[in-house]
Amino acid sequence: MKILISTDIEGVAGVFHSEQVRAGNGEYERARAWMTAEANAAVQGAIAGGAEEILVNDSHGGFRNLLPDGLDERARLVLGKPRYLGMMGGLEEGCDAVFMIGYHSRSQGRGILAHTINSFAFARVFINGMELGEAGLYGALAGEMGVPVILGTGDDAFISETRDIFPGAEWVQTKVAHGQGSGVTLSPAASRRAIAAAAETAVRNLKKAVPFRIPAPIECRLQTQSSALADLFCMWPTLERVDGVTLRFTTDSMQSAVRTLNSLAAMSFMLR
Ligand SMILES: [Zn+2]
Repeated sequence: MKILISTDIEGVAGVFHSEQVRAGNGEYERARAWMTAEANAAVQGAIAGGAEEILVNDSHGGFRNLLPDGLDERARLVLGKPRYLGMMGGLEEGCDAVFMIGYHSRSQGRGILAHTINSFAFARVFINGMELGEAGLYGALAGEMGVPVILGTGDDAFISETRDIFPGAEWVQTKVAHGQGSGVTLSPAASRRAIAAAAETAVRNLKKAVPFRIPAPIECRLQTQSSALADLFCMWPTLERVDGVTLRFTTDSMQSAVRTLNSLAAMSFMLR
């Protein structure tokens, strides 16, 4: 049995501020060590539950935050960008299930450091009428490949908006959000203990999990953070303008939709 552990940083216990998730300062250096430790807790639990092979995917920012020399040696690490499957890089190898560790709620939500893919570019993303954040978008990409999400960890806002799309998954609430930059957190040690226990249960119950599938055709409706971004994104001829800040496109798969969104996120750097 092979597990992909996708790790973000905003949902990690102890992380509340944008400085902690941005490279180039001391607070970030502490936070990436906590992120690595939560990944290791997930590895430990997965192996206790019966996993034989583990890939850990670094899914935050530039995709190079986890400390390779701090990672449990029983796992291999997916690092760096660009990569076509983004936060699900590693599924190309064939995996049986996904963990989402340190995830966060979607843009415009009330969660800690809430955003969707790129906080500068995207305000809201709807797929076939359903508003989704990163967990939903990438969970549907995994689901399209027949792979279920069996564990999610992050704050209460993330869990409440995601729980229904991954029935049968295990959840660890690392924090309670009071706002974008405030709330109450478990200690990193308590969070790691809870993640290891939930990871073990999740792997033991893997057979009950159901992949999250969104049937094609996929219609993506996208609200940008400004009309200037909508102007820029509509340079791409397959995108259609709906109003000042709303665009839409249709495609034949979630992989194609996610790759399009990631390409738009990359384009948005032109306007920063
Ligand atoms: Zn992130």
